[in-house]
Amino acid sequence: MAKRDYYEILGVNKTATAEEIKKAYRKVAIQFHPDKNPGNKEAEEKFKEAAEAYEVLSDETKRAQYDRFGHSRPGGGGGYSHHEMNMEDIFSQFGDIFGGGSPFDSFFGGGGGGRSRQRKGSNLRIKLKLTLDEIANGVEKKIKVNRLTVAEGVTFKTCPTCQGTGQVRKVVNTMLGQMVSASTCATCNGAGQSIDKRPPGVDSSGLVSKEDVISVKIPAGVADGMQLSMAGKGNEAPGGGIPGDLLILIEESEDKQLKRDGSNLIYDLHISFVDAALGTSVEVPSIGGKVRIKIDPGTQSGRILRLRGKGLKDLNGYGTGDQLIYINVWVPKKLTADEKAKLEALRSAPNFQPHPDANEKGFFERMKEYFG
Ligand SMILES: [Zn+2]
Repeated sequence: MAKRDYYEILGVNKTATAEEIKKAYRKVAIQFHPDKNPGNKEAEEKFKEAAEAYEVLSDETKRAQYDRFGHSRPGGGGGYSHHEMNMEDIFSQFGDIFGGGSPFDSFFGGGGGGRSRQRKGSNLRIKLKLTLDEIANGVEKKIKVNRLTVAEGVTFKTCPTCQGTGQVRKVVNTMLGQMVSASTCATCNGAGQSIDKRPPGVDSSGLVSKEDVISVKIPAGVADGMQLSMAGKGNEAPGGGIPGDLLILIEESEDKQLKRDGSNLIYDLHISFVDAALGTSVEVPSIGGKVRIKIDPGTQSGRILRLRGKGLKDLNGYGTGDQLIYINVWVPKKLTADEKAKLEALRSAPNFQPHPDANEKGFFERMKEYFG
């Protein structure tokens, strides 16, 4: 089952203050409290759902994270970091919002009433292309989107057809007797609100498409294919419901030099076999500029050098990757007569006969070491 939006569960706006959230939770918790709804499974689920929503929205850090990523945190295995709450957890949470003790009874007895049905606006989807540098450092992007927003001058009123419930009940006489059927109100499409006034040119939804510039903070370490979600930045809902979300699909533009492997970066370095034999120092590209590295005399082709911490930050805070430099010893494809003669003279020299020592790992050994 798809998880419902936490704000929607508590019936508050994205901009609600801590106090408003607390108040809203109190209302929902009382309404669906098990003592008040004995044996009602659905009420119990709603009660738990509200507790979970409150747990996240009452915590500044968790709320900020939820606002940015919604239910699915990027990189993480989908789940939010909090555990499934059990009833005991929920009741212990009450100490905080009801001021300790067992104050529940005093809130009972009055009202409860029907939950207002708020319709949610549709989600907006955009693609966002990022360079490796932007991914490495994190970036704040201003994105232009066309959002459906409530047109200026539009006012809403409680739908006269359904009196705000969003549903109409019809009594039908059938052979089996009278049957009551409930269906979505056709006047307001279930929103419970209908348009009171609208300026000319605005259709019956009361919404117009408007260009909006949204500032998105992209954390360091995102990857191609990840989807970030900004709650409430999608299309607004007809009838003044909760706006949908803005879903941002990350696309990574390929870097010409550095290839990405998770949080590691891989660079292919070609050196001449003279440099490999005599040793040298070379500059290699890396995040944040070039880095000079030393090539030891006698460096073998296939060796992998590691620049620790020169990779990408892990999105979930598990450290930083490395830059791996793959050494490829370049063999000339054509030789002059003079070069040929010089090399011929070395052909039978004992030093030029391959004799790998125990430290020279073969290809498979190295792969095991770096990717095992
Ligand atoms: Zn209606």
